[in-house]
Amino acid sequence: MSLGVAILGSTGSIGCSTLQVLGRQRERFRVTALTAHSNAELLQQQASEFHPSYIGIVNGTGDGGRGTGRGVECLVEAATHPDVDIVVNAIVGAAGLEATLAALNAGKRVALANKETLVMAGELVTRTAREGGGEIVPIDSEHSAVLQCVTGRRSAELARLILTASGGPFRTWTPERVAGATVDEALRHPTWKMGKKITVDSATLVNKALEVIEAHFLFGLPYDAVEVVVHPQSVVHAFVEFVDGSVLAQMGFPTMELPILYALTHPTRVPDAGTRRFDPVAAGTLTFEPVSADLYPAYGLGRAAAAAGGTAATAFNAANEVAVELFLAGKIRFGRIGETIARVLDGYQATGAGTLEAVLAADAEARRLAREAACR
Ligand code: NAD
Ligand code: MG
Repeated sequence: MSLGVAILGSTGSIGCSTLQVLGRQRERFRVTALTAHSNAELLQQQASEFHPSYIGIVNGTGDGGRGTGRGVECLVEAATHPDVDIVVNAIVGAAGLEATLAALNAGKRVALANKETLVMAGELVTRTAREGGGEIVPIDSEHSAVLQCVTGRRSAELARLILTASGGPFRTWTPERVAGATVDEALRHPTWKMGKKITVDSATLVNKALEVIEAHFLFGLPYDAVEVVVHPQSVVHAFVEFVDGSVLAQMGFPTMELPILYALTHPTRVPDAGTRRFDPVAAGTLTFEPVSADLYPAYGLGRAAAAAGGTAATAFNAANEVAVELFLAGKIRFGRIGETIARVLDGYQATGAGTLEAVLAADAEARRLAREAACR
């Protein structure tokens, strides 16, 4: 019996990679639901190739017909559809939260790329998984790497995680030059081809701050046991240190198809010939450097928000989403992204982040503050 897979955000970078993987795994998985924000043409094309029982478009026109949904409701409809066993959440940003919660409440596996929602509402999402009987399996390559290293171990054996970061396109620039970087420059990622928002997050290193918070909620380690090292080749995805001092790492040439497949099959592995096999000689010299606080000021802000706890991480994520949108629209300079986050978090009074109401209120308030701060 094959498992039914819903892909929320099927037209994006992770969504398309997921369909690549599923196209090779048709005896194990069926695509049973697809959703997109507004790219109706690509969504239709995907539907005619994979024949899902449900397709949904958030921002679409025209009549849907049977098995189609419109508006934001389509995300929860797809996530809780009876033909769906695994929900791949490949939506970018806070918009993915409700669908993740609904899928976990319905007892489904959520293969989670949408890290923003684990940052904005980590306590709520992990509790919903426990209470609803669902399960969160990360797609993010660093977290997939950690999961692959710790599967079969008890959590008490874990001592420390070291996530790797490519350092983005500005790793060798001066902080002054980075502050004035253009959109084109920020979108030129050295090792990964991804959606625009995460590519900008990789240039500011906000992405790695989000991932530290994501790792904390997924693996239950305190923040001071989640470290980051810059590794420009993106071959080692993470290191895991155990209590006896032994360290395991997971490696491979950069591709999201492997972590996507593993999120679908965990804890099992299945044959797949779709990705480039590893070759240590071709990988060449692997280097590691500390994170520069001058070059990536927003990274430290994210770590500080994480340590503050409660809704501080919610506010950090919301401020960043607003600032990145303004940067991509050409309204603010690159350096203003970090400044906007700093202004929102300066004097921020965090509250408990255990309920959906508290999280949504903190998110909305931080967005309002960020719009104000960005353009000041
Ligand atoms: P993307 O911009 O390429 O795709 C986003 C998808 O979400 C699209 O299908 C779009 O239609 C949909 N979407 C956007 N806004 C929406 C909304 N308001 N409501 C419903 N659907 C909406 O983004 P991506 O690079 O694929 O990233 C998706 C998520 O995966 C992000 O959280 C990102 O951080 C994470 N991630 C991506 C990569 C990567 O290689 N691209 C790697 C690790 C993690
Ligand atoms: Mg990652």
